[in-house]
Amino acid sequence: MEEDLERLKQRLPLLEYLQQRHWTPCRTGPSQEFVGLCPLHPETRPSFYVNARKNLFYCHGCGRGGDLIRFVELSQHLSFRQSLAYLQQRMAAPNDARLLEQTAAFYQLQLHRHGEAIQYLVGRGLRDPALIEELGIGYAPGGSLHRHLAALGYSFESLWRAGLISRQGHDRFWRRILFPCREHGQIVNLYGRSVGNAFPHQLLPETVRHFSSVILVEGLFDLAVLWQAGFRNTTCAIGTHLTPPQLAQLGDPPGRCVYLAFDHDANQAGQRASLQLARQLQSAGLAARLVPLPPGHDPNSYFAAGATAADFTLCLERAQP
Ligand SMILES: [Zn+2]
Repeated sequence: MEEDLERLKQRLPLLEYLQQRHWTPCRTGPSQEFVGLCPLHPETRPSFYVNARKNLFYCHGCGRGGDLIRFVELSQHLSFRQSLAYLQQRMAAPNDARLLEQTAAFYQLQLHRHGEAIQYLVGRGLRDPALIEELGIGYAPGGSLHRHLAALGYSFESLWRAGLISRQGHDRFWRRILFPCREHGQIVNLYGRSVGNAFPHQLLPETVRHFSSVILVEGLFDLAVLWQAGFRNTTCAIGTHLTPPQLAQLGDPPGRCVYLAFDHDANQAGQRASLQLARQLQSAGLAARLVPLPPGHDPNSYFAAGATAADFTLCLERAQP
């Protein structure tokens, strides 16, 4: 761990990381010291110092300082471990993105070759082939990915590192429906199960950026059926918790209204989770409303049981702050 950390910081010097993010020093001090505006808060006079030799920063404006990991923690609002994963993912990105792209394409092809997979989607209320295509949904039958990617020239090591095969060389995904998750157009993860070092909780980003109200759901099938029914302002938390980056994403633009359409289960766990989340959203300056679904239903099961867009619209209209 300690060693990994040192290697990471050597491979990606702090100054280089900052410059990749368009930080420009205003002037250069003695012994590789650089000064510029602090990226962590608004300011007009430069008080952010970077010592390239020591690989450290310090800001006299906000009094914060440290190494690359610390900077990522502060600027991305991530924990130490998440920052590490974020940086590792970033460094692996160019290769892994292509690899994940080819994996997703392979699994998309498999979907149409396996009747049981299509059957399963239909059973969960997903029937629209155009939407299935648009979401890039695929099927991993298991046992064939390794061979396929090896034939494309990928090494055992790279497939293992990306989490696509086990140490024994077996495919990681067996009989799973997979949803690729994109960020800035690039696949950063495959859901079904999380692959590689990507964060476990990511929104399906960008899709809802332009909507003033957003429907937030727990699962990817909830998302898929709502999109199918025309509710394109739906996004997915993949769980009932939001990470700080997700919260920040929802809060931009500010003042947005978030409809929480979570499970309504008998033991009230879903309702409690929604309430907690509603409070979290409200304290972040967003308006939150709880969507009352019929007892025992989540959006996916509701639509699979025959609900229509009009039925769901009624639920939205009944949503309470
Ligand atoms: Zn500062």
